[in-house]
Amino acid sequence: MYTTTVIIGAGHAGLAMSQRLTQRSIEHVVLERGQVANSWRNERWDSLRLLTPNWHSHLPGMRYAGDDPNGFMTVPEVVAFIDSYAAAISAPVQPQTTVTSVAAAPTGYRVTTDRGVWDCATLVVASGAANAANVPSLSELVPSSVEMLTPMTYRSPDCLDQRGVLVVGASATGIQLAEEIHRSGRPVTLAVGEHVRLPRTYRGQDIFWWMDAAGVLDERHDEVDDLVRARHVPSPQLIGSPERRSIDVNTLGQLGVKVVGRLGSIQDGVAKFSGGLANTCHLADLKMNRLLQRFDDWADGNETDADEPPQRFEPTAVASDPTVELDLQRAGIGTVVWATGFRPDYAWLDVPVLDRKGRIRHHGGVVHGAPGMYVLGQNLLRTRRSSYIAGAVSDSCALATHLQEHLDGLVSRA
Ligand SMILES: Cc1cc2nc3c(=O)[nH]c(=O)nc-3n(C[C@H](O)[C@H](O)[C@H](O)COP(=O)(O)OP(=O)(O)OC[C@H]3O[C@@H](n4cnc5c(N)ncnc54)[C@H](O)[C@@H]3O)c2cc1C
Repeated sequence: MYTTTVIIGAGHAGLAMSQRLTQRSIEHVVLERGQVANSWRNERWDSLRLLTPNWHSHLPGMRYAGDDPNGFMTVPEVVAFIDSYAAAISAPVQPQTTVTSVAAAPTGYRVTTDRGVWDCATLVVASGAANAANVPSLSELVPSSVEMLTPMTYRSPDCLDQRGVLVVGASATGIQLAEEIHRSGRPVTLAVGEHVRLPRTYRGQDIFWWMDAAGVLDERHDEVDDLVRARHVPSPQLIGSPERRSIDVNTLGQLGVKVVGRLGSIQDGVAKFSGGLANTCHLADLKMNRLLQRFDDWADGNETDADEPPQRFEPTAVASDPTVELDLQRAGIGTVVWATGFRPDYAWLDVPVLDRKGRIRHHGGVVHGAPGMYVLGQNLLRTRRSSYIAGAVSDSCALATHLQEHLDGLVSRA
């Protein structure tokens, strides 16, 4: 089979690109190994809500139309949102079609699936940035009596026995899971490394309102100082809850979660944590205050809806002698949850475009060394907004324009 463009993945990013191509009358197909919104259907825990407010979630040609713009979608609501988008744009999705190989071909690319082969001139990789949990190799040193879970295998506290839980990682995922598990009555230890602390609301507005209004989310990939580092900054300590509450090391410490430093090693069943917890938390407080100052400066020069004065939050309270060693069995730890991030899986990609960490080398989504190949749905792909659903609006527009120019170039050279 031949089609002009193959899009791999029917998440929001692949669908946004499909809408752009349809608008340009570019023939294409969207290959999806499961159903539309597969990751949201199968790879998220039960209680998860988006940490971005509903008003922020929009896609090319579709805005949130519900009656709760300041609320936070549950996972079934995200699935319904993406499903309705696929239907509205009549996306040419081929479900239950797993891509097993992509190779260079005379036409451009040859895409092999478990349901046939597609040749195409241009290829859009929208297979997701979070296909697998990033579990450190020291997980191999966890005693066999201790269960191990990741955010992709954890569903709810019901999947745990009654023993204590060590949650490793304190970004959005780790901090949310630590709180939920603690509330279920199990003792929780939370290992905290580098993290991003943010309040849910500031001066009466949601933090995403501020990041949007002050231009933080529109900072471009080619303006950021250290792009590699910026693309790997942990997700902010935020939770989407109806009561719009903040969540951070302080709130968890007050609940009774035992907070320790970054997990550095495990020897003979003893977990060793960094003694630098106070410094790590101090740095996160400093960065938060710097961002709040930026919002205040922006508000000083603009008409805003922020009717409350500037505020600052309590510094993170850290024990002067945090635990640095924990014998997992003696401390009653029955489960370790690795909330240590996610990674993409490109095992099927047979075009040499990956760096040594297995990530696609690209400039704003235009893949290096592979004419006509694009990637979408990555952290800070083109702007800071790219990490979120709404980022696909401008990212897909820019990449569809580039893709069309590439096709025009092929025609003029033929
Ligand atoms: C825990 C978590 C919380 C998040 N919270 C928010 C939030 O609050 N707000 C927000 O805006 N964003 C959030 N995001 C970020 C973002 O919306 C998601 O990462 C989003 O799912 C990425 O969209 P995508 O379309 O790029 O990838 P995905 O939604 O992962 O879609 C990729 C699709 O490709 C398919 N696929 C993969 N490999 C193959 C293959 N070989 N063959 C065929 N199909 C394949 C998959 O089945 C999947 O359907 C969150 C992400 C995670 C992981």
